[in-house]
Amino acid sequence: MTGVPSDLEIARAARIRPIEEIAAAAGVNPGALEFYGRYKAKIDPGRLDAPAPHGRVVLVSAMSPTPAGEGKSTTTVGLADSLARAGRNVMIALREPSLGPVLGMKGGATGGGYSQVLPMDEINLHFTGDFHAITSANNALMALVDNHIYQGNALNIDPRRMTFKRVLDMNDRALREVVIGLGGPSQGVPRQDGFDITVASEIMAVFCLATDLADLRARLGRITFGYTYSRVPVTVADLGVQGALALLLKEAIKPNLVQTIAGTPALVHGGPFANIAHGCNSLIATQTARRLADIVVTEAGFGADLGAEKFMDIKARVGGLAPSAVVVVATVRALKMQGGMAKDDLTRPDLAALEAGVENLRRHVRNVEKFGVAPVVAINRFASDSEEELDWLLAWCAAQGVPAAVADVWGRGGGGDGGDDLAALVLQALDVPGRFRHLYPLELPVEDKIRTIAQEIYGADGVDFSVPALRRLADIERNGWGGLPVCMAKTQYSFTDDASRLGAPKGFTIHVRDLLPKTGAGFIVALTGAVMTMPGLPAAPAALRMDVDPDGNPVGLT
Ligand code: ADP
Repeated sequence: MTGVPSDLEIARAARIRPIEEIAAAAGVNPGALEFYGRYKAKIDPGRLDAPAPHGRVVLVSAMSPTPAGEGKSTTTVGLADSLARAGRNVMIALREPSLGPVLGMKGGATGGGYSQVLPMDEINLHFTGDFHAITSANNALMALVDNHIYQGNALNIDPRRMTFKRVLDMNDRALREVVIGLGGPSQGVPRQDGFDITVASEIMAVFCLATDLADLRARLGRITFGYTYSRVPVTVADLGVQGALALLLKEAIKPNLVQTIAGTPALVHGGPFANIAHGCNSLIATQTARRLADIVVTEAGFGADLGAEKFMDIKARVGGLAPSAVVVVATVRALKMQGGMAKDDLTRPDLAALEAGVENLRRHVRNVEKFGVAPVVAINRFASDSEEELDWLLAWCAAQGVPAAVADVWGRGGGGDGGDDLAALVLQALDVPGRFRHLYPLELPVEDKIRTIAQEIYGADGVDFSVPALRRLADIERNGWGGLPVCMAKTQYSFTDDASRLGAPKGFTIHVRDLLPKTGAGFIVALTGAVMTMPGLPAAPAALRMDVDPDGNPVGLT
C-alpha cells in the first residue's frame, strides 16, 4: 500500500464481530440487548443482570486544543484497547458524533488510525437515531409552547422572552434567526425565534445528566423555556408536557453498544456541546459501563480547563462518581503551537517552541491535581515528532513528577503494542488511593463559583461581570437557583476568554457577559465571549469529499 490509509480505509478493512459476541464477552445478558442491525445494539439498564456501578473511571482530557489536533477520542479508544490487552475488564464510554460537524469541518468523532470504534460510518451518520429523538423532543416542546400561546396563552408567556429555540442536527447558519407565525391570525402568533444545533439543546444536556427514566422526566419538567409578562420563569412542568417528552426519549435513553477495532466494548451515547453544556457522554452510559467493567475509560470535550472541570464539578456530582485517574493528552505539535510556532511549520523539530508551549501542559496537569486525582500525560505520537522532542517532553514530565508515556495508538493501535506504556502508567495511577474533591461547594454564591474556576483553573486575576450578567445574578438568587453548579462557556483555545492568547497567560480578567440558567440540566451557563450555538459550514465542507458507491459503501468520511 502507498501512503497512510485513511481512518475510513482502516475501519473498513477491520474485522468486525457480531454485536452479540461483544455483548456476551462484556457480560451483557441477552435479555438486556436490543439489536439495531448486526453491529449495534442498545442495552436496557433495567433488564441488565449486573451488579451496581463499581468500575473505576479513567477520564481522558487534554491540553488546550489547537487546530493541530490532540486526539482525545483516539487516545480513549487506544488506551482502553491497551488495558484490555493487559488482561483488564474494560469498557469505553464516549459521546455520539453530531452530524453537523461530520459534514462540516471536523469529520467523524470515532477515534482515528488503528484506535477507532466501529462501524465508524454508521456511528457518524444517524447511528441509532438518538439525536433524532432529542431533536423531536425539543421541537415538540416548541410546537406545544407556540400552540399554547396561539390557543389563548393561559400561562401568560411573553413571546419576547423565550429562552428556548428549535433545533436541527446540522450546521445551518441561515436558521440562526428566524421569524415564525407569519401569515395571519390562523398561522399562530408571530415572534422572533431561531435554531440551535441539536447538541446545544438543553434536552441533550438533560439526557446526558439523567440518572434514569424517572429522573429524565423530572429534569425535563424543570426546564425553564421562557418567562411570563411579569418575568416569572415558565417551566415544561407548567405546560404539563414532561411526560410526552420523556415518552419520546424512552428508547433513546438506553446506551448504545459498539466495539473498537480490537474488539473492546464501547458505549457511545449522548453528545452535549462542551461550551453551552458539559461535554460528556450520558451518565447512564457511564454508570452502565461501571456495572459491566472494572475500568471505564471516558472522555470530556475540549481541554482540561473546560472538559475535566465540568466532568468533576457537574457530571461527577450528579452521578456520585469519583474519577480515579485523569489522562491529559498532549502532542508535540500542539505544544509547539502553544509555544508560538505557526501551524504550517509544525513538522520542523523545534525544542525552543516546545519548551515555551509546555507551560500550557503544566497548568492543565496542576489543575487536575487540584481535584485530588492523579494525572497521567499521554503524548499522542504523530509521524512528524522527532525522537529528540519526545525524549525532551518525557524528561520534562519526569522532572515535574508527572507520569508520562508516548502513545502510538493511532499508528499501531491499542490492540497492538502502541499503548502498552500508557496503560501500565494508568494502572499504577489507579492504585494510588483517591482523594477526589470538587473544586467548589454548591453553597458558594454563583459569582464566587465562577471566580473560583477562573482563578484556580484558568489562572485569571479576577472576573468582570457585565451589567446584564449582574442583573441575571440577582434573578438567579431570587428564583432559588443559586445552589446550582456553573457551566463555563469559554473558548477552548485559551485559558483566557480570548482565543488568540495561547500558552499559559497570566495577568488577565475573565469577562462574563451573561448567565443562562439551565434549570432542567441543573447548571448555570456563564457566557464569556461569543458562543456559537448554531455553527456554520466552512468554505470547503467535508461533505464535498463524501460519497457512497453503488454497493452502499461510504466514501470520504474521516
Ligand atoms: P479529539 O477527540 O481530541 O477531537 P480525535 O481523536 O477525534 O481528537 O482526533 C482528531 C483527528 O486527528 C482524527 O482524524 C484522527 O485520526 C487524527 N489523529 C489523532 N491522533 C493522531 C496521530 N497520532 N497521528 C495522526 N493523526 C491523528
